[in-house]
Amino acid sequence: MADQPTPMMQQYLALKREAGDALLFYRMGDFFELFFEDAKIASGVLDIALTSRGEHGGDKIPMCGVPVHAAEGYLARLIKAGCRVAIAEQVETPEEAKVRAKREGLPSSKVLVARDIVRFVTAGTLTEEALLEPRRANLLVAVAPVRDGVGLAACDISTGRMELEECTPAALDAALARLGASEVVGPDDWEYAPHGVIARPRNAFRSDDGETRLKTLHGLATLDGLGTFTRPMLAAAAGLVAYLEHAGRGNLPFLLPPVARGSGAHLAMDAATRASLEILEAQGGGRAGSLIACMDRCVTGAGARQLAEDLSAPLADRDAIEARLAAVHHFHADPLLRADLRAVLRQAPDIGRALGRLVAGRGSPRDLGQIRDGLSEARRVRDMLSGSPDLPELLAEMTGALGGHAALVDHLSRALVPSPPTERQQGGFIASGYDHALDALRETSGNARRAIAALEAKYRDETGTPSLKIKHNKVLGYFIEVPAKHGDKLMAADSGFTHRQTMAGAVRFNSLGLHEEASRIAEAGGHALAAEEAHFEELVGEVVAAREAIAATAAALARIDVSAALAERAVEGDWCRPEVFDEPRLEVTGGRHPVVEQALARAGERFIANDCALGPDDRLWLIGGPNMGGKSTFLRQNALILLLAQSGSYVPASTARIGMADRLFSRVGASDNLARGRSTFMVEMVETAAILSQATERSFVILDEVGRGTSTYDGMALAWAVVEAVHEQLRCRCLFATHYHELSRLAESCDALSLHHVRAREWKGDLVLLHELAVGAADRSYGLDVARLAGVPQPVLKRAKAVLDKLEKGRAATGGIAAGLGDLPLFAAGVQAEEPRRDSLRERLDGLDIDSLTPREALDKLYELKAEA
Ligand code: ADP
Repeated sequence: MADQPTPMMQQYLALKREAGDALLFYRMGDFFELFFEDAKIASGVLDIALTSRGEHGGDKIPMCGVPVHAAEGYLARLIKAGCRVAIAEQVETPEEAKVRAKREGLPSSKVLVARDIVRFVTAGTLTEEALLEPRRANLLVAVAPVRDGVGLAACDISTGRMELEECTPAALDAALARLGASEVVGPDDWEYAPHGVIARPRNAFRSDDGETRLKTLHGLATLDGLGTFTRPMLAAAAGLVAYLEHAGRGNLPFLLPPVARGSGAHLAMDAATRASLEILEAQGGGRAGSLIACMDRCVTGAGARQLAEDLSAPLADRDAIEARLAAVHHFHADPLLRADLRAVLRQAPDIGRALGRLVAGRGSPRDLGQIRDGLSEARRVRDMLSGSPDLPELLAEMTGALGGHAALVDHLSRALVPSPPTERQQGGFIASGYDHALDALRETSGNARRAIAALEAKYRDETGTPSLKIKHNKVLGYFIEVPAKHGDKLMAADSGFTHRQTMAGAVRFNSLGLHEEASRIAEAGGHALAAEEAHFEELVGEVVAAREAIAATAAALARIDVSAALAERAVEGDWCRPEVFDEPRLEVTGGRHPVVEQALARAGERFIANDCALGPDDRLWLIGGPNMGGKSTFLRQNALILLLAQSGSYVPASTARIGMADRLFSRVGASDNLARGRSTFMVEMVETAAILSQATERSFVILDEVGRGTSTYDGMALAWAVVEAVHEQLRCRCLFATHYHELSRLAESCDALSLHHVRAREWKGDLVLLHELAVGAADRSYGLDVARLAGVPQPVLKRAKAVLDKLEKGRAATGGIAAGLGDLPLFAAGVQAEEPRRDSLRERLDGLDIDSLTPREALDKLYELKAEA
């Protein structure tokens, strides 16, 4: 029979059962220890030593540990690596455990200090400054799939924001891609849960529960005042709140009243489009090279988070877009105001996140200081803006949310020292003059400290030992220390000193006088700490009571920062204010790709601006020309200009008239992604299929070399069919880049399609790419010239030229691979089956009466037919 586990192991295993698949941090003194599988995982992720301790079931128990004082850094790395952590703390002192043992009649050696999981640390439930990225929102999302809809509840508990929405199952991936959550939870019986979703009990996702919880949370009799919430939305809200409660072990973090996000309020983009446009992340991963990195001139973390959200979810509502553009314009037109305002904002601490920590009960005196400073900066911003004439509506509304905190700021200013510490255990954060009793206690310990200094001088005199010192440490408290050779003098029975400790080179003593002063310090210090603690609680209570108004101020500051930052960016890049309307047009002159332009500028090169003019009569541009000629860049710059305009930003162009789109699609042919090693052509086709089924007349689609991922014939045929379908059926605005020359023949049959190419010129035998767009089909494909530019050796080029000449001769004779396509009926007509060709074989087959044949006869007939074929 296996040995009974030790009491500690029993306690550990019980807690581990509760922790489930989260790593259990088990507190032992100054360390959090991990055991078994947890230890193996953590030691691997953290690169710390894996040791062992005792045995369990005959095997050594793997173990590793991290010091408590450095736990935050380790937690951050575990969370980044996708782990969740349960923190088990000691919930009683060893003394309390002994008392309990006595009460329960156990020998005190047998009693273990009680431990409990106090919190789950997960990616979506962080509030700690050290664990959060200042310029990125940190979202937790709960998904409630019901019969034919999906509810989504998203919250950022570091700022309290909460949003509910509903979408179709087909649109879920796009919604999740837009939200970019750090953590997603869903019911455990959800069959089609995307990878990585954390399963929670289904009964936590009940809509009636969601409604009740939201009402209780916000003290409301009905949710009607907040907006219209559907059943799936409320079910998701229930799952979200239940998970937060689980993670916080009953403590709920800060949640603002939820906002209902209407479907259709935003420009829809799926995950593939986001990735291909590199909105928040570049293709290789990371922010460098992304749109946001090139756009972000925000001076606050909250502003940067708001901008990321704006770019992830551009608007589809004209008034809302115009309101944002007017705010940007205000700062664009007034450089002085912009500079002054940004200087003030730069000083403003992140009050949204400080508030999140305070409400969650994890706040520090420093967070209170940040609220004080942030709110007074907000006041300064208000004064600057309310002086401006013709304040646009959005800014006027934001300015209105900046004030109203005078009493709170005043109270915090009087109560707190200028820079309060992050730790409150040591006190020292309440300003002098705020509480007379506290001042008196501090004076007492100050006096005692001075008295101790005086004692030191007195004892040196009396004993004739100038090297005598009064010191302090954690174990002994205050003590007198002399070098060993003087020790004997103080040892004498009548010296007035009592011996405490003999060290290698020194001897330590106590004295009655020192003991008295030390007690005065300890007592006054204890009382002072208690007083400061009480003030802290009171101040936190006051901040928590004003949380909604403070959160509104934080949101207003973020929006103002974004507007001023977009103006700054526009001035820097000489961008223009787009004109936004409903008609499906896209008319851009002097358009540029902001990221490519910036990269070229760094290399001292100039970006060639290009125009685009899509409208109802010319909806589809087919763009040819050599590789590296700038086709992809042109496609993307127009998609980005539309996206920026609908986000309420100025755009990199001389003029831009943008008809709002409902959906934006961007697809790149497969061979660019070959490195990923999946069946990339399959991916390309799946993504193309998504466009063909989802795009509407109001959408904007860019397709870059679709069909490239397969053989020439297949690829061209698919590209041909896709262009036709876009033109005939979707009838949306589309830019289509292709190197298939032959597609230009589509211009003959598609009346709203026009041909364009990126220009290139031969100069002294070399190919010069002009990156300039021109009307008409490309005259040839320049493949060999590009190969030469790329440094392909001469002999290979020569051989390729010989092969090409042969192929081209063949093409001249047969009409090339597109021969016969001239009389191909258009897509819509083409799908109607042609009359089947009649031949003798068919006629004989038709003539057979299968039912009257014996199996033997059937076989004979089959041989006969086969011989004829
Ligand atoms: P294609 O899609 O035709 O192969 P790309 O759009 O990928 O070509 O462009 C290739 C390179 O050419 C880009 O990386 C960029 O450096 C340069 N380029 C593209 N467009 C421009 C432009 N309008 N002005 C200047 N350089 C450009």
